[in-house]
Amino acid sequence: MNDNLKAEHKHFINEIIESDRAAGRHDGRVATRFPPEPNGYLHIGHAKSICLNFGLAATYGGTCNLRFDDTNPSTEDVEYVESIIADVRWLGFEPTAILYASDYFGQMYDWAEELVKKGKAYVEDLTDREIAEHRGNFFKPGKNSPFRDRAPEENLDLLRRMRAGEFPDGSRTLRAKIDMQSPNMNLRDPLMYRIKRARHHRTGDAWCIYPMYDWAHGLEDSIEKITHSICTLEFEDHRPLYDWFLKELGIPDPPRQIEFARLSLNYTVMSKRMLLELVQQRRVSGWDDPRMPTVSGMRRRGYTPGSLRAFCEGIGVAKRDNVVDMAQLEHAVRDDLNESAARVMAVLRPLKVTIENFPEGEVEWFDAPYHPERPGMGSRKVPFTREIFIERDDFREEAPKGWHRFSLGREVRLRYACLVTCVGVVKDAAGEVVELRCTWDPASRGGTAPDGRKVRGTSHWVSAAHAVPGEARLYDRLFTKENPLDVSEGGDYKDLLSPSSLEVVAGCRAEPSLATAKPGDRFQFERLGYFCVDPDSTRERLVFNRTVQLKDSWAKIDGARKSG
Ligand code: ATP
Ligand code: MG
Repeated sequence: MNDNLKAEHKHFINEIIESDRAAGRHDGRVATRFPPEPNGYLHIGHAKSICLNFGLAATYGGTCNLRFDDTNPSTEDVEYVESIIADVRWLGFEPTAILYASDYFGQMYDWAEELVKKGKAYVEDLTDREIAEHRGNFFKPGKNSPFRDRAPEENLDLLRRMRAGEFPDGSRTLRAKIDMQSPNMNLRDPLMYRIKRARHHRTGDAWCIYPMYDWAHGLEDSIEKITHSICTLEFEDHRPLYDWFLKELGIPDPPRQIEFARLSLNYTVMSKRMLLELVQQRRVSGWDDPRMPTVSGMRRRGYTPGSLRAFCEGIGVAKRDNVVDMAQLEHAVRDDLNESAARVMAVLRPLKVTIENFPEGEVEWFDAPYHPERPGMGSRKVPFTREIFIERDDFREEAPKGWHRFSLGREVRLRYACLVTCVGVVKDAAGEVVELRCTWDPASRGGTAPDGRKVRGTSHWVSAAHAVPGEARLYDRLFTKENPLDVSEGGDYKDLLSPSSLEVVAGCRAEPSLATAKPGDRFQFERLGYFCVDPDSTRERLVFNRTVQLKDSWAKIDGARKSG
């Protein structure tokens, strides 16, 4: 039906939309929206919803709004509004319109009066607790409130006075008059408005009654002429209510609510409430801490917009909840950076090496391409001098079997430069090796010897005199347990935060081409992983976030899955 859409990426929502179009519903239009509540920063679960909604609009030549569901002033803030707009754009999507539910408060209120006049809504005087008691539960039908049969005129008068601010907070509510015996709890006279004196970040003090989500959401969709209102599975049981309000208001050609499974990832939590708690209790450095599953955290860590979109596309759209392996997310960013990131050399834990037969004060410049398969990315010169640093891990005093890197008497290749042989070690008083003495073979410039002798090991390195200092921040999973919400041993998810989720390595040395690197720049540090320059960097000291290691555990899992 649609040429833009590859068959393997089709999911049940495509089917629904295509059959609606075939039936001529909504004149064949497709209009979606992404409706965040501005009470926190976006996380990767929201990115899934963004990709889905904007993606459907693109597939069918439709529209997609960014609509702030700002109906609960006490938890909302402009800081969140701004971060959400920035994150959506960073992900690569431009909303057809940026809209606010609060702009519809007047229209929503008029509709509420309409339902009151029709006898479909009433003002309730019971307290929250009494309402809950009357509501019953899954096994027990509810009881009608003594205020349920108020006359429409009385209800209208009370509602107007609620709005005018005559009653204290929490003293009255407006409820839909549906069915207190319904097996669906959501239909047992749900609340539409509560009284709450809270300053709204857009409407200020204009309102002292605020609409409830279930009442507001379908109205917002209708006002914007949304055709397909996509939400997560927990709203499935709310759909009859969504439809009821629109039917009672006589909305023509109403939007259709469609539910899909939320994205969950292992080793992290994905609820704004919990993420906010981590921020407020300073368990992380902020919403954009690179360990956070937030879009801003992932951006700071070095994830690319393309990698997040590819991940969201790759996991598909499911009707049943499942947990996605973090390794799959890491696979997506590795895949993307493998294509695009410049290869450079940096040493995280330096070990000094002196090249005994290299003249003091001299510099030899070797050509080093930025990407082995992308000649278009160009190259730079790396300086080779008498004193260099190699990775401490690349030296073993007792070389195990199969060791091809530095060890006494062994010849090793320095990437892009030459072959060197370790001829001695210098130890400190404690017996720890603090320096290697090597010789180089001037005939091996470029990394191969003219006699073709075999040298298996290659190490990265930097010239001591030229290297720029830096700090590396190595990240690991934020939680120790696959499901941090499983606290069968007591405590809560915060007790499962991993003490090794951040390791700070000071005293790193990077090749001089990095001196001009700016926050947000991404690199592959050869043999170490992908890194991104952090905004904490200063002129004196660069800070590098490790985005992801080079080793890919998901490719293996996925390969086994596909062939098995
Ligand atoms: P949270 O529970 O994290 O606060 P939320 O659903 O309350 O999330 P909203 O701001 O109301 O957050 O969500 C905006 C949109 O993003 C909604 O349509 C919601 O269904 C969707 N969404 C939120 N979390 C996820 C997720 N984990 N996976 C997919 N979609 C999500
Ligand atoms: Mg919410």
